[in-house]
Amino acid sequence: MSNIKKEVDQVSKQERDLTKLRESLKSACTHTKKGELTLVKSNRGGQEGSANYICKQCQKDIVISRLSEAQIDESIDIIDRMIDTIKISADPNRDDDEKMIKQMAKIQYRLRNEVRAFYNASLKKNSGGNRNNRRNNNRDNTGGWNRPNVL
Ligand SMILES: [Zn+2]
Repeated sequence: MSNIKKEVDQVSKQERDLTKLRESLKSACTHTKKGELTLVKSNRGGQEGSANYICKQCQKDIVISRLSEAQIDESIDIIDRMIDTIKISADPNRDDDEKMIKQMAKIQYRLRNEVRAFYNASLKKNSGGNRNNRRNNNRDNTGGWNRPNVL
């Protein structure tokens, strides 16, 4: 007699593993291939004033709109506070917590010190059109080098 519960549990574990793998691939994807965007327009999750796309490679919904300084400040602050809460409630004497605390510390450092600078640099690149300027001639909603315009 088969053990249905055991098999269902195995299927659930495989589903969780697949979800993890899918999310990991979405994180690894640059949403480009050979220098070309892999984004297509999408109507899913539409927000006023933002451009919505779906990546053909990883299937992630991509919302592109320029964030205000206030939105950036608030977002960084919220994640920063979440990480502080996680660190405070973790037990540094437990091996798995110690590892997690180190990972959170790295994320927190990068969030506070690098993400805003990288974001601002990406906006400058996008608006400058200093790469492949010839593409500007036939663009519609795209930025300087065939990137969606977030400005
Ligand atoms: Zn992608």
